Amino acid sequence: MSTEVQSKTEVEISIQNLNFFYDTFQAVKNINLDVPRNQVTAFIGPSGCGKSTVLRSINRMNELIPGTRTEGNINFRGVDIYDDHVDPVEVRRHIGMVFQKPNPFPKSIYDNIAWGAKINGFTGDMDELVETSLQQAALWNEVKDKLKQNALRLSGGQQQRLCIARAVAIKPHIILMDEPASALDPISTTKIEDLINELKKNYTIIIVTHNMQQAARVSDQTAFFLVDEARSGYLVEYGKTDEIFFNPKNKETEDYISGRFG
Ligand code: ADP
Ligand code: MG
Repeated sequence: MSTEVQSKTEVEISIQNLNFFYDTFQAVKNINLDVPRNQVTAFIGPSGCGKSTVLRSINRMNELIPGTRTEGNINFRGVDIYDDHVDPVEVRRHIGMVFQKPNPFPKSIYDNIAWGAKINGFTGDMDELVETSLQQAALWNEVKDKLKQNALRLSGGQQQRLCIARAVAIKPHIILMDEPASALDPISTTKIEDLINELKKNYTIIIVTHNMQQAARVSDQTAFFLVDEARSGYLVEYGKTDEIFFNPKNKETEDYISGRFG
């Protein structure tokens, strides 16, 4: 199993011996994986192999689900985010999340950005924060004349970019995205992919996708997961996206990739 990241970039997240349980069911088993800073890392694999579970463990979202248990360490810039002294709310401030289904608040476009920022103690120029966040999410030009309009009136693709703007406004270091384009039309999907490419200049991005072509297009690193006989998800192979797709070391990876492309 390859868990080495060959490039010299710094490690942003180091997952060490991660095991995760929903009650007695072990959903993921012994995950070890280093995520490099300011790159895009994709999680791929069949449905149920634990991609979302691993993703949610990175900002401690899983512990909001009753009856779950996490074992192992996740280091973020040298801090074990599962340490007793670490506040999960603080973790989520540094590690934001965007979900499959766009979930804007039923508030104005402006307030969608301003609200979270305010709660997180932002006291600067709010108009400026709203504008720069929307610009970073490639949405500003489409909404600048209707900031007071209810966000739920935007198209699905615009709503998803608004959710990205809302995540960006908190000034996180990492943005986790769980199939962020799978509910969107092809044009909106392209916009999200272009946006991910822009965002990685300033953020570390981890994206779950069931779309192989998307993983090949947007990511620098790819992690391929499968399930074992006990239905526990495990990491089969991890490395540079080009190598995973064109020169996989592992037979299972090759079968999966060629099955999806062939
Ligand atoms: P993926 O995102 O790769 O489709 P998930 O992380 O959602 O996989 O799920 C991994 C495994 O954990 C699956 O077997 C799934 O049924 C199970 N699972 C996911 N969420 C829950 C939950 N809230 N309660 C119990 N089991 C869950
Ligand atoms: Mg999932």
